[in-house]
Amino acid sequence: MQDPHEIAAEAVAALAVIEDAALLEEVKARYLGKTGSITDLMKQLGKLDASERPVAGARINEAKQQVEAALTARREAIAASALARKLAAEALDVSLPGRGAGVGGLHPVTRTLARITELFHSIGFDVADGPEIETDHYNFTALNIPANHPARAMHDTFYVGTSDVLRTHTSPMQVRYLETHAAPAKVVVPGRVYRCDSDMTHTPMFHQVEGLWVDEDVTFAGLKGVLIEFMRAFFEQDELRARFRPSFFPFTEPSAEMDIGCVACGGSGCRVCSHTGWLEVLGCGMVHPNVLTPLGVDTEKHVGFAFGLGVERLAMLRYGVNDLRLFFENDLRFLAQFR
Ligand SMILES: [Zn+2]
Repeated sequence: MQDPHEIAAEAVAALAVIEDAALLEEVKARYLGKTGSITDLMKQLGKLDASERPVAGARINEAKQQVEAALTARREAIAASALARKLAAEALDVSLPGRGAGVGGLHPVTRTLARITELFHSIGFDVADGPEIETDHYNFTALNIPANHPARAMHDTFYVGTSDVLRTHTSPMQVRYLETHAAPAKVVVPGRVYRCDSDMTHTPMFHQVEGLWVDEDVTFAGLKGVLIEFMRAFFEQDELRARFRPSFFPFTEPSAEMDIGCVACGGSGCRVCSHTGWLEVLGCGMVHPNVLTPLGVDTEKHVGFAFGLGVERLAMLRYGVNDLRLFFENDLRFLAQFR
């Protein structure tokens, strides 16, 4: 019979160099399998003399245990190195910066609307909202623009059905507000308005802020003071110059247009102001008695002023934007600059 410890030593040496789990099972079978060499020794035990069997059996068992211990150790070593390889291959770089949450921002027109209403609110103006689909009555007739009046031609109107329009200005809210609020009344109305017009300086939808102040001691001088102080606060220019030119609107008398000194060149003349040094910024005037009287306002006691300003116009001047269409194209590269 071959020496069991020799066989065990041979098996331990063979196992020591194995790196592969499948190969490990082959070697195991070679020694401990049904026809393995240690199993063979066990089968040969029966041929030995009864007196020799206990010693030989014990030696075979020792050898078997040596091989099994080597097998277990090798199996664990192979599993450990496989795990180490897997961890190395799937390593995460925890120092990489995260994707983070994108921070949004308000649209420049929204920011401008908020700035305008906040400034007026800070000097006591209420803030109101009105319908964008308006009746012919509120958009025109109640504002002293009867049917067939030539002033209707100044508004390129979108009609909705036969008697409704997309409001062409925020002025209808002068009437709606006074229907529900008795004088004294002091309100600004920000909102969208619509004109059938589209080119470099016009878009079919744009924003206006309407202002109305009806009280006993309202004067044209007061109107000028409020608007000049507003423009100075809006553009953050304490010395901003202003001038008022006579104009015509059916719902105000007298009517004026307000110019401010060019905020781009300071009045010396540039492309923004067409080299005049002045920028036209809004229309205004004293509310016409034909508007106030049907609303039950005693025009002997109460007078009012009103103004309407274009929000995109002020946003362009404040941010130095030279093309109105940029506000409506929703190009994120443009919008992200206003965060
Ligand atoms: Zn200028």
